[in-house]
Amino acid sequence: MPQRAAPHDADQRAGLDPYGAATHAVFNQPSELADLDLFGGDAALQEGVAREGAGWASNELAALGARLGAAKTLELGVLANRNPPELDTHDRYGNRVDLVRYHPAYHELMRLAVEQGLHSSPWTEPRPGAHVARAARYYMQAQVEAGHGCPVTMTFAATPSLAKEPDLARHWLPKIHARLYDPRNVPAADKQGVTIGMAMTEKQGGSDVRANATRAFPIGRDAMGEAYELVGHKFFVSAPMCDAFLTLAQAPGGLTCFLAPRWRPDGTKNPIQIVRLKRKMGNVSNASSETEWRGALAWRVGPEGRGVATILEMVAATRFDCMIGSSAGMRMAAAQALDHCRQRKAFGALLIDQPAMRAALADLALEAEASLALTLRVARALDARSTDPREDALARIAAPLGKYWICKRAPAHAYEAMECLGGSGAMEDSPMPRLYREAPINAIWEGSGNVQCLDVLRAISRAPKTLEAYFAELEAARGANRALDAHVAALKDDMRGLADFEERARDLCDRLALGLMASVMARGAPGADADAFCAARLEGRGARNWGALPKGLDLAAIVKRALPR
Ligand SMILES: Cc1cc2nc3c(=O)[nH]c(=O)nc-3n(C[C@H](O)[C@H](O)[C@H](O)COP(=O)(O)OP(=O)(O)OC[C@H]3O[C@@H](n4cnc5c(N)ncnc54)[C@H](O)[C@@H]3O)c2cc1C
Repeated sequence: MPQRAAPHDADQRAGLDPYGAATHAVFNQPSELADLDLFGGDAALQEGVAREGAGWASNELAALGARLGAAKTLELGVLANRNPPELDTHDRYGNRVDLVRYHPAYHELMRLAVEQGLHSSPWTEPRPGAHVARAARYYMQAQVEAGHGCPVTMTFAATPSLAKEPDLARHWLPKIHARLYDPRNVPAADKQGVTIGMAMTEKQGGSDVRANATRAFPIGRDAMGEAYELVGHKFFVSAPMCDAFLTLAQAPGGLTCFLAPRWRPDGTKNPIQIVRLKRKMGNVSNASSETEWRGALAWRVGPEGRGVATILEMVAATRFDCMIGSSAGMRMAAAQALDHCRQRKAFGALLIDQPAMRAALADLALEAEASLALTLRVARALDARSTDPREDALARIAAPLGKYWICKRAPAHAYEAMECLGGSGAMEDSPMPRLYREAPINAIWEGSGNVQCLDVLRAISRAPKTLEAYFAELEAARGANRALDAHVAALKDDMRGLADFEERARDLCDRLALGLMASVMARGAPGADADAFCAARLEGRGARNWGALPKGLDLAAIVKRALPR
């Protein structure tokens, strides 16, 4: 019979390893990044909020940043994704219920978002900086978890479209704006707070919604407005437990926008039947569904035949939130990478102090900072658009540019950040796989890359003032950076003829987006960050990977500024 070896090391003598079975001690492994201060620990966010006109919100944002960064809040994001929603089409007795069950952590995140007015604050408390303050709140909340942002955003974005129909607005807006989350599967009449979804995409076309085949049959007027019954299908309906959906269907007068409630006013179920839930690579905490509309009651929003124009107001707002969400994902990915590398050693030194890693980290930090800076600048334009035509024109062009560029950068950024963590970064118990899988979603929905580029073209050709506002914005940074000045001059030349814009759309939109980001950085970010961004992104050096920065930059300063606390 083999005998255990006699105690021979300190652990055994201390009684920690009475059987002599210890194989190793765990060392050189970072601790979890938790109990973060998402506002106080983010210099770029604090400065951006003040720069863009929401300094008044700093105290409230500071309290929220600590609350959202707490370990127990971050854990909600983990739980909501580890336990995806499930669909019950029928109850046990065979009655149709179309019920999606979410994990309690998802509801908790929704409650947090709604209580802070992420779905309504600029509409209910308009003031200079209202969009900026909301963007900052959304940015911090999205770092905790991205999926629940979908219904929050759709509810937020519904207001401009619904405000156009006085009867609908009177009935629905007070409940849409309430800071009260009520997930019960009951008619809206029984609730004080409701959420709104968006159902446009059909199988034959998502970008080209004019191809929608769902039909709308007028049935007369009721207390909410002109009523119709809708027959058709919708291939993507996210957050199907929303209380009503903005949708598009072919009415006698052409493609028209409608609001369809999940329950009819008489308390019966509106026949919007969920066929199945999508099996998604990201956005897992949130349900997305395929639905059949079997004579579903809906009220007209805007005139018949003006459906695209009516719902586009909603889409414009959701696109802006994609910018916030992707900026948030990049901030969290950079924070994870920075935190790991300041604790992990290889070849005798901390990774953060090793020059090749420092360059990669600085590049990730720069991208995150510039994305946030542009997002907050667009938020300011949204704040000022009703009183300042130039800001209105800037918002029109900067939102699709920002949506296009920022959302497209996020997947590669998430991957590089993951690699900074080595093998553990690719493990499912690390936050990185979730950040990585989440990253492409914002780029695809609400208008994929090419569609954003074509929207930029539409903006410029229909309203040349948008391009004037764009260049006026860049002019404001003239002299701040030589590379930026040269970039602006070349862009002006290239934007003179739009005949072949579609073919050059990606090239032009890349450069338009980078010019805008660089100008915001040049005017707002510290010298090291602004210089590095302009040098790295504007001086043409061909295809390159993260961390391939020009020499002579103050990388240590960039990394230090971005460290999470
Ligand atoms: C997780 C998730 C949730 C979603 N939730 C919803 C929802 O709640 N409600 C809803 O209505 N939709 C939803 N969608 C659908 C989404 O909005 C569409 O997938 C998107 O609009 C693209 O439409 P499509 O899939 O039909 O692709 P297509 O329209 O076929 O586009 C395919 C590709 O072609 C490109 N393209 C299109 N037109 C042109 C052109 N003229 N020139 C060059 N390139 C072009 C696009 O940029 C895209 O890259 C969701 C999608 C996802 C991934």
